Amino acid sequence: MTSTSPPMDVMKRTVLISGASISGPALAYWLHRSGFAVTVVEKAGALRGGGYPIDVRGTAIEVARRMGILPQLQEAHIDSRRCTFLNADGSRLVSVPPSAVSGGTEEQDVEVRRGDLAAILYALVRDDVEFMFGDSIDTLDQSERGVDVAFRSGRRRTFDLVIGADGMHSHTREVLFGPEERFHRYLGYCFAIFTMPNTFGLSHELTLWNAPGKAAALYAVGDNDELHAFLNFHQPDPPFDALRNPDAQRDLVATVFAGAGWEVPAMVNAMREADDLFFDTAGQIRMPRWSSGRVALVGDAAYAPSFLTGQGSSLALAGAYMLAHALATDRDHTAAFAAYERDVREFADMNQALVDNGAATLFPTTAQALEQRDTMLRALVTMPSTPPRPAHSALTLPDLAPPP
Ligand SMILES: Cc1cc2nc3c(=O)[nH]c(=O)nc-3n(C[C@H](O)[C@H](O)[C@H](O)COP(=O)(O)OP(=O)(O)OC[C@H]3O[C@@H](n4cnc5c(N)ncnc54)[C@H](O)[C@@H]3O)c2cc1C
Repeated sequence: MTSTSPPMDVMKRTVLISGASISGPALAYWLHRSGFAVTVVEKAGALRGGGYPIDVRGTAIEVARRMGILPQLQEAHIDSRRCTFLNADGSRLVSVPPSAVSGGTEEQDVEVRRGDLAAILYALVRDDVEFMFGDSIDTLDQSERGVDVAFRSGRRRTFDLVIGADGMHSHTREVLFGPEERFHRYLGYCFAIFTMPNTFGLSHELTLWNAPGKAAALYAVGDNDELHAFLNFHQPDPPFDALRNPDAQRDLVATVFAGAGWEVPAMVNAMREADDLFFDTAGQIRMPRWSSGRVALVGDAAYAPSFLTGQGSSLALAGAYMLAHALATDRDHTAAFAAYERDVREFADMNQALVDNGAATLFPTTAQALEQRDTMLRALVTMPSTPPRPAHSALTLPDLAPPP
């Protein structure tokens, strides 16, 4: 009797990726290129725009180059000209070039709107990969033959592998390893991000106001008539109730910033009106393992470094490449996931450690720490830019086999 099924070694392995932001589409690109049949499920009804500008640096620049998207990223590069620090009364402390405080490499690194990076990645894969928007994984049931997935919509499908690229609050991680509290390292800050009209005449620049335990920033991307506003504050314990309730978030931010100087009252008013408020805690995800059986995690879901490091998107891009490389190199997913973890762990650890090595110094929580930071900033005006941080480039990328 002749079989109509293709032999095992030419059958495409199927992968479901949960999350279509940065790590999800990047992984989809590399897995498709390596011969996998890829499906991406995204909870939101469409690709999510918005978010503060993000950096792509070091190793991640090389990933972008190999993906062929570096010219687009360079085109979308924000190219801020200055970063101005203000005192609590709104007076100017110093203005420095952005690279002086980011630890980036001015000539090579790029800074783009998060939504632009997500859109560029999505455009790269949308014709080759199946996208399911407005749906999400409900349950996962692993067996020797694959992972049976029940979706919230009621659909059911089976995949060879499932990858959680669903961010810091990953549902895939929760299903696989338990509640986020077990893996979340709270860093003592909460932040609110939203857009507001550029009534200040700001252009190509970031303005940052500080008081002990509080920071407010306005980011003018180009000559845009919209500003990215950012309110960050020290909070000893995470406000778990507010995390699930946008009205409570607005009230908390307004209470913390009551009586603050500069344009902060106008920012708080704008936050009340904003329809794109993004509120979260500054935290990291630290896990002893990134996979279990046929399911693994990538990007923020596995090793979120927090916005304080500015390395979330770079880790996501580099991690996606390394996971795809491991899966393309070894058909045994257990061995591949082990190799991915072995090769990326140190890079992730080094970047997460940036918060313990001064990455939070822009947000001092006491008057004394603020004074020390201000002294450091004044010195930056006469010093050459800080050297690039070794953590940004600490991963050497192996070559990925050409597509079959
Ligand atoms: C709208 C938005 C705004 C952001 N703004 C900033 C910012 O201003 N500054 C900053 O440093 N970082 C921001 N981030 C986080 C930043 O994108 C990540 O740190 C980094 O790029 C790593 O990306 P990631 O793809 O691993 O995770 P994320 O970018 O967090 O993406 C996770 C994706 O998974 C989706 N998702 C979540 N749960 C499910 C589920 N159950 N099923 C299916 N899909 C799910 C989300 O909608 C999202 O598209 C933002 C993320 C988003 C989604």
